[in-house]
Amino acid sequence: LLTLNQINKSFNGQNAVSDLNLSIEPGAFVALLGPSGCGKSTTLRMLAGFEKVSSGSIFHGGRCLSNATTHVAPENRDFGMVFQSYALWPHMSVMENIAYPLTIKRVDRATKQKRIQEALAIVQLEPYADRSPAELSGGQRQRVALARSLVTEPEVILLDEPLANLDRHLRATMEETFRTFHKRTGATMVYVTHDQSEAMSLADQIAVLKNGQLIQWASPQSLYQQPRTAWLADFIGRGS
Ligand code: ATP
Ligand code: MG
Repeated sequence: LLTLNQINKSFNGQNAVSDLNLSIEPGAFVALLGPSGCGKSTTLRMLAGFEKVSSGSIFHGGRCLSNATTHVAPENRDFGMVFQSYALWPHMSVMENIAYPLTIKRVDRATKQKRIQEALAIVQLEPYADRSPAELSGGQRQRVALARSLVTEPEVILLDEPLANLDRHLRATMEETFRTFHKRTGATMVYVTHDQSEAMSLADQIAVLKNGQLIQWASPQSLYQQPRTAWLADFIGRGS
């Protein structure tokens, strides 16, 4: 279980996240959904460990990652991460980029080869292993970033608007990649987006945030059928 307990985060006295409680089941595909500035990235960055919590606690599998006195560094949380800008190493090949997290973890050569091949297969980039990132399309680069995030076999993968830079056609293809990826790895996915249709089509549980507060935590179906506020009904495009 990945839990956020009564999380608050403020910047210069302004609350970006307020009293947030979430309990995420292992293997769930969760979306954090809401308009610009609602606190999605801040929440994800606290999960990743890039930001400290102002108050509250974060637990994963019974282990405290963050509270008033504890802050486990990002590299010790063993989470995979995918961001809007993929930040691939331009001087390394696709395969070297994917291998990088294993290299810094000093994983043995045989395991490394096996994991790289599996990761390449999941994102269907086997023919591109020796190319440089400059020779790939945006969607292919995003798939390299995804492969790199899963090569260490993390239990949790955090994604911040991973499709924001891609065109509509590519987004649909990549949504399918995320679904396959989730099915094959069984990883817990926490997926940030401001796009309600993306959240609805990918996630099995959605947390809607507005002004740093949790408005509703529900399945796509019940969000659609029973939005808790008029604002939410409007936001998810149903009108009221
Ligand atoms: P978007 O969809 O535009 O990416 P978001 O939901 O991810 O928005 P956050 O980036 O979490 O929003 O920001 C939430 C609030 O916290 C905003 O008001 C933002 O200005 C503020 N904020 C975020 N990071 C910082 C920071 N490092 N310093 C000061 N304020 C910050
Ligand atoms: Mg953001």
